[in-house]
Amino acid sequence: MRPAAQLDRRDGPEAAAGSQAAASASRSRAEQRFAFLPDSDLVDAVVASPNHGERRGGRTPDLLLLHYTGMPAGRGLTMAERAIRWLCASESEVSCHYVVDEHGTVTQLVPEARRAWHAGAGSWAGETDINSVSIGIEIAHPGHPWDLARAPDAAPGEPAPEHPGYLPFPEAQVAAVAALSRDIVSRHGIRPERVLAHSDIAPSRKRDPGEGFPWARLAAQGVGLVVEPAQIAGGRFFTLGDAGRPVEALQVMLGLLGYGIAATGTFDQATADVVTAFQRHWRPARVDGVADASTMTTLHRLLGRIAPADGQGGLA
Ligand SMILES: [Zn+2]
Repeated sequence: MRPAAQLDRRDGPEAAAGSQAAASASRSRAEQRFAFLPDSDLVDAVVASPNHGERRGGRTPDLLLLHYTGMPAGRGLTMAERAIRWLCASESEVSCHYVVDEHGTVTQLVPEARRAWHAGAGSWAGETDINSVSIGIEIAHPGHPWDLARAPDAAPGEPAPEHPGYLPFPEAQVAAVAALSRDIVSRHGIRPERVLAHSDIAPSRKRDPGEGFPWARLAAQGVGLVVEPAQIAGGRFFTLGDAGRPVEALQVMLGLLGYGIAATGTFDQATADVVTAFQRHWRPARVDGVADASTMTTLHRLLGRIAPADGQGGLA
């Protein structure tokens, strides 16, 4: 499946659950548009988005989700400004808690206590209402070369501008994302294995923030979980069309990590999408959806690092 455009409506309020009459939703969103005190000392500006709701079931944040905006600069706005404007437009029905621009400036759009609309349909460790359990950070970045014909906020017929290519994340931006993430995970007690990419919770729809995001830089500050990826070499591998017990074992391991994947024993497109998402995050040297020996060894290492709640040691 081709990944969708970033910041699209399918990540909006109704993507995971619930519905509301459009008229009353629009009115209450307008009423909710108030300035608020930032949750973190690291916030440089607050721009209140009307796009948020109650966290369902009284949930509190226990997952941190990182995104890139994947939106072009334009219309006299920087990439971050244009994304913030879209994330604050009631018609977009998308939002996030924080935007970090390419210079490291942090803008908060939605209070952490509220359910922002950034994750959309997805799954992690059995949870499908990711918006209710997560805090979302959007990193201003052009993303992968876009396959969108036009930007999500573009006028009808307005083409998307030429893409600069998947660029490295600037140093100042990475430092700001790392510091903000550390602040968030420490205030909420978010476990390392629950600091995730949007692509982890929606592997068939999303690619962000992508294989170029320096997760190790965050891990160096105690944020998230990384292991040394196993060296890419020959050996046994599994790919589209393969079937059998080893494929089922691979699916079980990916599911233990948290991915929403069924243990069917058949290496189908959904499995390839999950393997691709795993590689983007944890074995970025080659992102091809093929479960080679390096991918499987890296997955084993990662599972071995995740302590179960009873403290009896790792899964591997
Ligand atoms: Zn995203």
